[in-house]
Amino acid sequence: MDFSLNKEQIALREEIMRFAREMLTHDVIGDDRDNHFSREGWKKCANFGLLGLPVPCEYGGRGLDPLTAMIAFEALGYSCKDNGLIFAINNHLWACAMYILEFGSEAQKRQYLPDMCSGLLIGAHALTESGAGSDVLSMECQAVRDGDVFVLNGTKTFISNAPIADIFIVFARTGAASYMSSGLSAFIVTIDLPGVKCTKEWEKAGLRTDPMGEVHFENCRVPVENLLGTEENGYTTFMTTIEWERAFLFASQVGTMERLLEDCVRYTARRKQFGQAINSFQSISNKLADMKVRLELAKLMIYKVGWLKTQGRMALSEASIAKLFITESLIQTTMDAIQIHGARGYMTEYEIERELRDAVAGTIYGGTSEIQRRIIAELLVS
Ligand SMILES: Cc1cc2nc3c(=O)[nH]c(=O)nc-3n(C[C@H](O)[C@H](O)[C@H](O)COP(=O)(O)OP(=O)(O)OC[C@H]3O[C@@H](n4cnc5c(N)ncnc54)[C@H](O)[C@@H]3O)c2cc1C
Repeated sequence: MDFSLNKEQIALREEIMRFAREMLTHDVIGDDRDNHFSREGWKKCANFGLLGLPVPCEYGGRGLDPLTAMIAFEALGYSCKDNGLIFAINNHLWACAMYILEFGSEAQKRQYLPDMCSGLLIGAHALTESGAGSDVLSMECQAVRDGDVFVLNGTKTFISNAPIADIFIVFARTGAASYMSSGLSAFIVTIDLPGVKCTKEWEKAGLRTDPMGEVHFENCRVPVENLLGTEENGYTTFMTTIEWERAFLFASQVGTMERLLEDCVRYTARRKQFGQAINSFQSISNKLADMKVRLELAKLMIYKVGWLKTQGRMALSEASIAKLFITESLIQTTMDAIQIHGARGYMTEYEIERELRDAVAGTIYGGTSEIQRRIIAELLVS
């Protein structure tokens, strides 16, 4: 077993850190306050190639293997403080482009992936409905075949990137029977189709630099060629592609954990109370130790999923374990970082309270912690 990064991975890590430090210098405090998405940052990331890291070169990507893409996103999370921008990229790539790459026809891949990699098209993933959150199968959004189109009706909510998106992966019921996994289909829906509208923009506690919205479909005529995969196979499409979203989307959070730990190590050495550096107090150094333990275990988990996917293997349980552990660990790490910084940790200008607000959502999107535990337990007994 070899845990070391190869030369190319080390070089890519450094390249991304340098890029983020020099190019992603926008005002994240202001953007967070104003719910502002940085298009400039998006374009810079696109030009650098971040939007298509694991996408094969023939479709406009950089063709990296999954493990190396994982390492790259970890480096981005370490060096870029705009978690909302990274979340937008993650949703675009792992929850939209990856679906097209895995299930799209050759024509669909050639039509959409190059523009998604270049940043011209922004992608989103539209699954959740008001009545169908964890319980995906209870969705009501319907697509009824009418000749060479599907007529799509319904509303998707809490959709990240929706207000800025050009292309959506939409799940809808095409089968007659309700509450059947076989009754769902996935579609590529572009914002220029008549009958698609982003009807509401949500204001949220964290990840405020990535807009989220509600998308309404009213008699939207989606051409049959926009069907992703085969008809009524949408649930399988979702279940086999969700591994990417569940683990790869969280690699950047491991980088955030490392950045926060390094920041806390520096601060506790510098900050003096009772005539000594606060890192000499055991209750403070214990927090640093716990942050380090969580970081190392989180790294092992993402690298394992990256390795499995690089081998072309399934990682259903490992992806759920990674998501569960990383998201809950990040919340604890941000809370420890706030406590270590005392009042400063709670102040906006120190940029730690924002990390906590951004982190909290991780245990909800992509399947809640409760659902991840359920999946892990079910896979144990199946
Ligand atoms: C920041 C953010 C970004 C998001 N982005 C997207 C997106 O891009 N696209 C998209 O489609 N959706 C997105 N979502 C929605 C997200 O996927 C759902 O919120 C999530 O699946 C949970 O659904 P819900 O909010 O309806 O909660 P519910 O399903 O109503 O759950 C409420 C509570 O009950 C628990 N619960 C439910 N069922 C069970 C069970 N069987 N066993 C144990 N506990 C259970 C849940 O864990 C939770 O604690 C996003 C959400 C957030 C917060």
